Amino acid sequence: MQTSQRPRVLIIGGGFGGLEAAKALAKAPVDITLVDKTNHHLFQPLLYQVATAGLAAPAIAAPIRSLFRQQNNLTTLLSEVTNIDARENRVLLSDGSTLMYDHLVVAAGATHSYFGHDEWAVHAPGLKTLEDAFEIRRRLLFAFESAEKEPDPEKRKDWLTLCVIGAGPTGVEMAGAFAEIARQTLIGEFRRINPRDARILLIEGGPRVLQAMPETLSAKALSQLQALGVEVRLNAIVTSIDAQGLQVRGPAPAGVLGTVDYTIASKCVVWAAGVAASPLGANIAQNTDCSLDRAGRVLVNPDMSVPGFAQISVIGDLAAVFTHVPGKAPVPVPGVSPGAKQMGHLAAANILKRIQGQPTQAFRYADYGNLATIGHNSAVVDLSTPFGPLRFSQRLAWWFWLLAHIYFLIGFRNRLVVLMDWAMAYSSFSRNARVVAGTLYKKEHVGES
Ligand SMILES: Cc1cc2nc3c(=O)[nH]c(=O)nc-3n(C[C@H](O)[C@H](O)[C@H](O)COP(=O)(O)OP(=O)(O)OC[C@H]3O[C@@H](n4cnc5c(N)ncnc54)[C@H](O)[C@@H]3O)c2cc1C
Repeated sequence: MQTSQRPRVLIIGGGFGGLEAAKALAKAPVDITLVDKTNHHLFQPLLYQVATAGLAAPAIAAPIRSLFRQQNNLTTLLSEVTNIDARENRVLLSDGSTLMYDHLVVAAGATHSYFGHDEWAVHAPGLKTLEDAFEIRRRLLFAFESAEKEPDPEKRKDWLTLCVIGAGPTGVEMAGAFAEIARQTLIGEFRRINPRDARILLIEGGPRVLQAMPETLSAKALSQLQALGVEVRLNAIVTSIDAQGLQVRGPAPAGVLGTVDYTIASKCVVWAAGVAASPLGANIAQNTDCSLDRAGRVLVNPDMSVPGFAQISVIGDLAAVFTHVPGKAPVPVPGVSPGAKQMGHLAAANILKRIQGQPTQAFRYADYGNLATIGHNSAVVDLSTPFGPLRFSQRLAWWFWLLAHIYFLIGFRNRLVVLMDWAMAYSSFSRNARVVAGTLYKKEHVGES
């Protein structure tokens, strides 16, 4: 335990934002405590690779404690923060103990939103944590196993209908990977079914895939998905999900006006449609009277502090902050890792300024652009450069995506492991992380009694 009289900095969350804030304070005369409810930092951009058996968990996650082995001013604690008592400068942990702070950085990230239908979660897991990725991988691989055992051709089809809801980057990556598994990886391994018979549906409520990308790249991503055999349903709203599949309201068939409601029977559904801020956002609002946006993110001051509570900064996916481009209306900073890292860096710099009695700085977002991958040699890239946007797709974009992700992965060993796994997968379409613990589908998921 630290006992000095140096300012106490408490960081909640060892994700992209929290890690960056902690690293930026490595040489500062402060005592830092970093609390996370998991023992690892997770590289979420490659989480879909764990969910689709391409990579094993340790390739994309690193123990937080080991990351800070050399940083003597930092103590790592494995615990969940349940309450932020802003007026008393202390937080409550799930084991009932408390931690005092002089400066608090809240970087607790986001979770799934089922738009008021939390009962769908059991049938359509989202992808946010390693546990989520393991669950999706289990359902995906066991869907093929169950189809192989199923004598009834109609029921077999249900097992071989794989649905992804939401065509943002995660949904697109996931649907593309499902298609490659069905069309390439599993070929030759089954005797009663042909994995190529699997249908992969990507269901999107909006008019195009990858809506954060320019329309030209959305169109390219759509055609790359279709080339992989993914059926993309646009303007299609999911109205219900249960153990048998989903109900969808979407455009009527060609030649018929309006919308129709239809059912898709499926035993493997993944949710990639909605994001909500960590519940700690609501807790902060309750304890400080600050405002939240519609996703539950804390509306912070330009310097990332909570209005009226200069000693508390909220950063990353939990913060609602705007980026100002000259001549344009302010736009919210997107929930991406570069945004979280930049906010973490600024929060650390502002803590030092406060300690030195200097004015704090406002956040300015440096937007480097967007990337999304779809499959082998198939990706879209939209880069912001000083000379204007640079957009490209397919093989070149895929290599760019791959190298960028390896570069940003934490730890030399992780980079090497991922590089080797991908080199093997590139030449053979193999997926090395297909061993699943456990025996069968969970009963509540498939509606078994
Ligand atoms: C599947 C997926 C794919 C993504 N792909 C990309 C991509 O390709 N490119 C990109 O730029 N961004 C991507 N993102 C978004 C990016 O990962 C987030 O913007 C980024 O992680 C936000 O960082 P953060 O620090 O705010 O939160 P996180 O990185 O989510 O970290 C939050 C941390 O807080 C901890 N925590 C939460 N609540 C508590 C609590 N009560 N007590 C203690 N600890 C707590 C969590 O365990 C976690 O470690 C992706 C996200 C997901 C889920």
